[in-house]
Amino acid sequence: MGLAVGIDLGTSNSVVAYYQNGEPRILADAKGNTVHPSVVAFGYGESTVVGHRARQQLTYAPENTIASVKRLMGRRFDSVEVERMRAMVAWGIAEGPNLDARVRIQGKVYAVPEVSAHVLRHMKQIAEEALGEVVDKAVITVPAYFNDQQRQATRDAATIAGLECLRIINEPTAAALAYGYRKGKRQHVAVYDLGGGTFDISLLRIDDDFFEVVSTAGDTFLGGDDFDTALSEHLLATLQQTTGVELSTRHVALTKIREAAEKAKRELSSAASAEIRVPNLARDESGQPIHLITTLDRSMLSRLVMPLIQRTFLVVDDALKQARLTATQIDEVLLVGGMTRLPLIREAVGHYFRRKAQDNINPDEVVALGAAIQAHTLTDTAGIADAVLLDVTPQSLGVRTVGGFVEQIIPRNTPIPTQAGKVFHTATDNQDQVRIQVFQGESRMAEDNDFLGDFVLDNLRPAPRGEIAIRITFSIDTDGIVAVRARDEETGQETDMLLEASSNLSRDEVQRLRFDELGF
Ligand code: AMP
Repeated sequence: MGLAVGIDLGTSNSVVAYYQNGEPRILADAKGNTVHPSVVAFGYGESTVVGHRARQQLTYAPENTIASVKRLMGRRFDSVEVERMRAMVAWGIAEGPNLDARVRIQGKVYAVPEVSAHVLRHMKQIAEEALGEVVDKAVITVPAYFNDQQRQATRDAATIAGLECLRIINEPTAAALAYGYRKGKRQHVAVYDLGGGTFDISLLRIDDDFFEVVSTAGDTFLGGDDFDTALSEHLLATLQQTTGVELSTRHVALTKIREAAEKAKRELSSAASAEIRVPNLARDESGQPIHLITTLDRSMLSRLVMPLIQRTFLVVDDALKQARLTATQIDEVLLVGGMTRLPLIREAVGHYFRRKAQDNINPDEVVALGAAIQAHTLTDTAGIADAVLLDVTPQSLGVRTVGGFVEQIIPRNTPIPTQAGKVFHTATDNQDQVRIQVFQGESRMAEDNDFLGDFVLDNLRPAPRGEIAIRITFSIDTDGIVAVRARDEETGQETDMLLEASSNLSRDEVQRLRFDELGF
């Protein structure tokens, strides 16, 4: 039997940790790196390169190199998010058989969990080298606001990578666990988590080793990438203005500008201004080289990204309202995610909560450490690991009813695992089947929510409308994954499903893609 690790599978970077001798620790690769870019480079025949080496390839072969694939996890091809992603990347996005978005590189199409599986396998290998033993199980973290499909896609990625996913836990919850485990705390904690792709806020009550999430809210399309976009757009506009050359369709130039923007953003965390020098970006009409040489200071950064920072606080307002708490009732604020290294964000958070955030937390490592603690508590055979984690479902669940409205069955922020049901009646005379369409999200209108899937309950007895009663039951497990059951109350006939077919891989496909089955 192999070991169980905790993996923070991030949009930009991933981290793996293991619990040993009474504490979790980060596992480093042979070069001592503890944080590994979640970048997968293709173009090496059947094999791929992942991590630091892959990130280098991003600048010279962006069309073969996938970064931030997590942003496509569990997304439908026709979603707004996929549209936005398409504008940002040099590779193709194709439509999969389940309406899912897939990655197209050199004419080959890859399912998103398959790409993520390369990152997970890389983390598994790093852990195996560091520990000298087989690692075959993991607790994997996801943004708290991930919906059912995104969670299932993450589970699929683990299976493809040859890892048993012991549990999916939310990133902010993992951070709180790492902060409070075995420290005898009794307080309300806010975890402000701004990473490369997503923003999450979770409010928790910690009572010794009892961790209860009171509310959570988030935006799965708000993160460092958007800050980079804002800075790149500014740099591009200035450059186009001064040179008169249209660069917005030149992918290599755009990728270089983006890299420079990201680097400048990081530099501004420690310096007041950052110099940007990107020589030979492209050539103008007369064949002369175009260089990008400029400086960016903190006040310009602030001006460009303030609308994004303000968006995070609207989400925080919502989480506090849901928890019926005020900002001043929060005893401690934890900052998680690489973006919280920006002083601008630390100041804004301090101002909002009227207290300085904890500064002895490593925002890159804390999530993986929490995942390792959870992996330990789930595999500890001695039974002394006793942390209790109570999480909530981040988004409401319901079914579509007449007129395109959603009838809510489980409201957001309900503690999980949970189960709830409602009885519906046929809408027309002699209706012999019902189609149950499941949605996740907060809008009253079905079409404004995420469509999770549908199924049919048939062979209903011919009867006047309203006579046949159908009970629909939703359950959400500890991973936040949804199962739905419909039951004809009269005959006892039932149909159930794990909502797998709407934008995710089928079970067969996941099995077919398994790296161990494929022999690599
Ligand atoms: P994560 O997803 O938590 O790994 O966060 C990655 C994001 O944090 C990326 O957008 C990085 O550009 C950003 N980031 C990392 N380090 C810094 C830093 N020192 N200052 C500002 N942003 C950073």
